[in-house]
Amino acid sequence: MPQQISLVLTPKQAADKDTYTSIAAEYADIEVSQIAMIRVLKRSIDARKRTPKINLTLELYIDNEPTPALLHFDYPNVDKATPIVIVGSGPAALFAALRLVELNYKPILLERGKDVSARKVDIANINRNQEINPDSNYAFGEGGAGAFSDGKLFTRSKKRGDYNKILQTLVFHGANPEILFDAHPHIGTDKLPKVISNIRETLVSCGAIFKFNAKVTDIILKGDKVAGVKCGDEVIDGAAVILATGHSAKDIYIMLHNKGIRVEAKPFAMGVRVEHPQSLIDTIQYHQPERGEWLPAASYSLVNQVDGRGVYSFCMCPGGFIVPAMTNSSECVVNGMSASDRNSEYANAGVVTEVRLSDFEHLREKHGELAGLYYQQQYEELACRHGGDAQVAPAQRVADFVSARYSSSLPKSSYVPGVRSSSMHEWLPTVIADSLREGLYGFDRKMRGFVTNEAIIIGVESRTSTPVRIPRDKVTLAHEQYSNLYPAGEGAGYAGGIVSAALDGENIANAINLSKL
Ligand SMILES: Cc1cc2nc3c(=O)[nH]c(=O)nc-3n(C[C@H](O)[C@H](O)[C@H](O)COP(=O)(O)OP(=O)(O)OC[C@H]3O[C@@H](n4cnc5c(N)ncnc54)[C@H](O)[C@@H]3O)c2cc1C
Repeated sequence: MPQQISLVLTPKQAADKDTYTSIAAEYADIEVSQIAMIRVLKRSIDARKRTPKINLTLELYIDNEPTPALLHFDYPNVDKATPIVIVGSGPAALFAALRLVELNYKPILLERGKDVSARKVDIANINRNQEINPDSNYAFGEGGAGAFSDGKLFTRSKKRGDYNKILQTLVFHGANPEILFDAHPHIGTDKLPKVISNIRETLVSCGAIFKFNAKVTDIILKGDKVAGVKCGDEVIDGAAVILATGHSAKDIYIMLHNKGIRVEAKPFAMGVRVEHPQSLIDTIQYHQPERGEWLPAASYSLVNQVDGRGVYSFCMCPGGFIVPAMTNSSECVVNGMSASDRNSEYANAGVVTEVRLSDFEHLREKHGELAGLYYQQQYEELACRHGGDAQVAPAQRVADFVSARYSSSLPKSSYVPGVRSSSMHEWLPTVIADSLREGLYGFDRKMRGFVTNEAIIIGVESRTSTPVRIPRDKVTLAHEQYSNLYPAGEGAGYAGGIVSAALDGENIANAINLSKL
């Protein structure tokens, strides 16, 4: 049996394998030469005290003890197997496809955008304030919304499936093995595209089909079943259809609604992205003037209740960038990402609050179950008007926002397309502006210095979750009306992040297998 030991180390000791190996040997009362293999099982930072420490749990294989085999997944050839149509190629779609292959089905993935490499050109153009390609941007294209992201893999929904298998699959396809043990694993935007294209190569080598520039425009219904989908004039048949189109595919919700395929309004979240100098967050979190050479860029996770409405930080990107995540030129939507080394001089996070059904009740008469979509759109368009040309976004210093003051100047920001000063407290929905103001004060009580002139908010962060759910049967996971239509992932309302979308995709594949098509 390998021996497990837990050490509390300085950041420098924890960063160097030789150092922690010799400390582990001493702790286990053996010679370093007796250690056949050492691996990290868990790593976390304890920054509660004045001097931050690293908690490291190690597994030691001693002398002739058999060491664990390298990760390997065997995927069978499914070229001749039953075809399953998957709309989208985000995490829900890709992990549904991998699981379907394991279960001997042939996935046909239809993606409205381009492959992940061609997509980079469109992403670069968006940042240069050029026209946004509505089918190829930060939300659409191979890899989905998660492709050009921080790639944070932390999830609260571990119970929904095999979380470790998701991480191992990512490592098998090229992600850094450190994600298997880090307390808050992340991949980084510089590494994600390669992992995604490796997953595609695995799938294609097994006989799965990928079609890019294949925007699904219709679903073909036959009684209480679906027969396939339409991409323009082309019909693609499948024994089942998985709809994994993400939260930005407004056209899909409208198509479903118009066809009488049930969708339902749901609460969602909206707010802004806040950005601080990373050095300020490091100082607050590590209680020292500088984080030094060995500690990673510090992060935070904050929550506050304001009159019964939750205000919380979301998708925090230490050492990251704020990015333009809109899907067309009339909107302004922001999000955040970071590279694997998280070394930019900025720290950003979404700060969002609940949007309740009652907040957009006034739009129900006209838009029915899609009312939340139009509420969201209204503020995305307003943000665009207050931002200005192209992707320039409205912004305000945090200290000015909470004091309801116009910012006569703005600090430097990581948001490449540019920012313009705007009195966001005036045009954000009152309920959101009020909640954010009180929420930010609450954050400042937990992290002194959070509300400062040095920090800005940029708007709007409106796509942290979807305002529409596509209802499905709790047992079969199929749509309530169509027994072989499977809504999946974030767009359907069953996930909120890369890992939860991937887990949902796997669960859908298992459900299809159980349905014995
Ligand atoms: C900038 C950014 C950073 C993020 N950072 C993180 C992070 O660090 N960690 C995290 O957990 N989450 C992060 N997220 C959220 C995460 O990316 C999503 O939760 C996740 O991608 C949802 O997966 P999904 O498969 O359900 O949908 P998506 O990833 O949205 O995929 C949907 C796919 O469907 C395609 N599609 C849509 N309509 C059609 C159609 N009509 N025909 C064909 N194809 C269609 C789209 O092009 C897209 O590829 C981030 C999101 C963004 C935008």
